[in-house]
Amino acid sequence: MVGFSVSCWKLATVELQIFHRKDASCEVQRFQSILAPLKLQPYLYTKRVILSPTERSHSHPILTIHESHIDQSLLPAVFIHEQMHWRLASDQEHAASILSAIKKTFLSSGKLDAVHVAVCRLEVRALQAILGEAATKDVLSNAARNRKEYELAFSNGELVDSCLLGLTPSNERDK
Ligand SMILES: [Zn+2]
Repeated sequence: MVGFSVSCWKLATVELQIFHRKDASCEVQRFQSILAPLKLQPYLYTKRVILSPTERSHSHPILTIHESHIDQSLLPAVFIHEQMHWRLASDQEHAASILSAIKKTFLSSGKLDAVHVAVCRLEVRALQAILGEAATKDVLSNAARNRKEYELAFSNGELVDSCLLGLTPSNERDK
């Protein structure tokens, strides 16, 4: 990452590496102050984060957050969403079966992205635990992307869960 600085930051007991522009200390501080009060530890699957002025937020190969998402109402959901991509990817043994179960179950529901059916459901469950039910609905009802997948996560959550084959958003319960 040419031209980027790195700051190490301890979030609970997890050491995150934050890559950012050299003159982005405000963004780094805002990123930390928004996430610090939240109980995120059980939901951290990758420890490297890029704060980018140009790239849209995405999960791989390095979790990247667009600087415009470093906002009180957006960042927790965006950060957890990208972490849940890592959660699904970390379960190599089951990921393929999970996706095919989702495709089988929701085949008739029109154009759905199976990865995002899984990731959005994991995100909703994590946010409900972190922010509470009402705040989660508030945040995600304004989501610009994955609208159908979020709708499914709320209206048909148990059925999506049954396709997840026991995969949960938290790394604490199912070790
Ligand atoms: Zn995504």
